[in-house]
Amino acid sequence: MKKSVFICLVSFLCIVLVSIILFGICFVVPIYKNTESKQIVSALPTIVIDCGHGGPDGGAVGADGTCEKDINLALGFALREILIQNGYQVVMTREKDAFICDDHSASLREQNVSDIHNRLKIAKSVPNSLFISIHMNNFSDTRYWGSQLFYGPKNKQSITMSEAIQKRLVTTVQKGNDRPLKQMDSSVYIIYNAPMPALLLECGFMSNTAELNRFKNTQYRCSFAFSVFLGINDYIKGVKHV
Ligand SMILES: [Zn+2]
Repeated sequence: MKKSVFICLVSFLCIVLVSIILFGICFVVPIYKNTESKQIVSALPTIVIDCGHGGPDGGAVGADGTCEKDINLALGFALREILIQNGYQVVMTREKDAFICDDHSASLREQNVSDIHNRLKIAKSVPNSLFISIHMNNFSDTRYWGSQLFYGPKNKQSITMSEAIQKRLVTTVQKGNDRPLKQMDSSVYIIYNAPMPALLLECGFMSNTAELNRFKNTQYRCSFAFSVFLGINDYIKGVKHV
């Protein structure tokens, strides 16, 4: 083979080799990365946010007439926004000031029972979900303040998730709050029967005017919701959901 022909052949092979490498970098690697990130995103659990009460059931009422149902919903919206911004799928059991009861429910009691059953039905219809029920506490002694978490007994992960959220709350927005975690008893149907990791979060006391005023403040609600989000995220990072 002539020297010039040999050089041409080697040059051609080099060009082909470099082209193959560049093609791999430009197309194959990004496609692999996209596939991988999609798998991670789809493995995240969906967060079901349940804002307590609604419609004719206002929940606890503050000294200034503020209804618990409205604070619950505002907190739920704040938490949903943060979760969505961070790549989570969110389902809310209610987005309006209303009961989620069946049309045939006649009396207020029937509507209440139907509402509770429907909330659990919604949660159960979402695969790979976590259930967070948001409420505000109330007590005759107005000194008491601070959040408290009640974990569902049917799923062992409920307590782990509750611990993670509590840890974030007491180290950020509620320093000095030493209320213990409690297992939910059968008096709260949804949390007691939820098969997925579930908890009821009593965010604070409607009966404590200073605390109620904090929760009426948008900035505080966002800070509180962000701490709850951090706790949920900590829990998910520590548990294999794939
Ligand atoms: Zn409540």
